[in-house]
Amino acid sequence: MDTTTLQDEPLLFEKDRPGLSGVDLPEPSPLLEDRLGGLRRRGPVGLPGLSEPDVIRHYTRLSQKNYGIDTGFYPLGSCTMKHNPRLGEAMARLPGFAEIHPFQPVGSVQGALELMNTLAEWLKTLTGLPAVALSPAAGAHGEWCGIMTIRAALEKQGDPRRRVLVPDSAHGTNPATAARCGYAVESVPGNDQGRVSLASLKARLGGDVAALMLTNPNTCGLFEDEILEIAAAVHAVGAYFYLDGANFNALVGRVRVADLGVDAMHINLHKTFATPHGGGGPGAGPTVLSQALAPFAPLPFVVSGAKGFTLVESTHRSPDESVPSGRLKGFHGQFGVFVRALAYMMSMGGDGLRQASGDAVLNANYLLASLKDDLSAPFAGPCMHEVLFDDSFLKGTGVTTLDMAKAMIDEGYHPMTVYFPLVVHGAMLIEPTETESKDTLDRFIATMKTLAARAKAGDSESFRLAPRHAPRRRLDETRAARTPVLRWKSPVAT
Ligand SMILES: *Cc1c(COP(=O)(O)O)cnc(C)c1O
Repeated sequence: MDTTTLQDEPLLFEKDRPGLSGVDLPEPSPLLEDRLGGLRRRGPVGLPGLSEPDVIRHYTRLSQKNYGIDTGFYPLGSCTMKHNPRLGEAMARLPGFAEIHPFQPVGSVQGALELMNTLAEWLKTLTGLPAVALSPAAGAHGEWCGIMTIRAALEKQGDPRRRVLVPDSAHGTNPATAARCGYAVESVPGNDQGRVSLASLKARLGGDVAALMLTNPNTCGLFEDEILEIAAAVHAVGAYFYLDGANFNALVGRVRVADLGVDAMHINLHKTFATPHGGGGPGAGPTVLSQALAPFAPLPFVVSGAKGFTLVESTHRSPDESVPSGRLKGFHGQFGVFVRALAYMMSMGGDGLRQASGDAVLNANYLLASLKDDLSAPFAGPCMHEVLFDDSFLKGTGVTTLDMAKAMIDEGYHPMTVYFPLVVHGAMLIEPTETESKDTLDRFIATMKTLAARAKAGDSESFRLAPRHAPRRRLDETRAARTPVLRWKSPVAT
């Protein structure tokens, strides 16, 4: 084991050795100081004194404490930490894409507009829906775009309605979006097969329902097999059918969501089309829209004409064709993410995308079949792209889902998603994704079998002490949430 990664790494400010410096700069000439005039600094700025090797070791060590898809298998579910092909990075760094500015005249950025238009065409073809808003910056933002668009369409009919229905297994962003758009959120319970209960849904539908927000495959990793009946029931009361498309990677190339009766859906490019995910970096959550919703799409969007590509940026295209939603964010959306997503689509081709969704589902089912007798699956399979276990196999062992997650860290794995979805007790949600080989999955399966056997053999003490081979032991998660310390203060100078 590489124990340097276990050493505590102090902050740069804690490593401060006043007077040390990584660079040798000549003293500034008095002339320069004169020219700074009143802007001249009077005291030190308080930067730590460090040598060049100190700085390099600091950042290299921090990078080694980071667990990512580049260092190992990443079983987190409902999140799809996918491989980001280096091809996409290379394309996004091409000067013609990386060095343009959103204020450039459209005549000088025709290639970039063509790229956005091509990406839009791919998304429309893959979903079967006729329009797409590219600018939302994440899945949650795409949901907001979709529900705002639905609201605008309903308001145009003079009937904005009052309620949005959301299944109880939904991602937290769904009820948050509906509430943010001014709707009362009503939860729809699931049935004992882990799907939405059609009867419960029908009982809640009515003339004041604006939309149903459904996730398919749902967050239990299951295909909503009554989705056509669900869409028909929603449309029968004049409501819109919003699909949370975060799990589109299980369907892409196989199901056109328009055929399921979907009116609007966001697509997480970072979950389906291999663009970087998380870390606060830019994401993209384009929202595809039906013909009826298309006139209410936000600005801007690209249109192609005889004279090339233009960007529609004004709110009023014609008097009866207003765009009530206006803009969702500055400029045109996350252009660098568009480049990566389109590079992925074009390098895979339609057949490749279809194979990726098939392999993602196959890998998840391989885990389900291999582990169902050692762990416990709350719903009958087969599953889609992620597999859900609960904690009933741990009953009476004194070991919890959280203990399993912490023990996985000592085995060199990032833990799976735990305690989500909430509809299952002690949930463990695992999404292997399509890029993992059978060898990797077999090693992971062997580890999970060993951990389950150890728990059942009464070894709860070692679980309680895990993780032992990590830079930090167990954190006090309650205190971390209730009294977070967000700012470092020097122990000396307070
Ligand atoms: C990830 C996810 C979202 C939100 O997407 P972000 O890009 O993280 O904002 C919404 N719904 C589901 C089911 C998700 O998995």
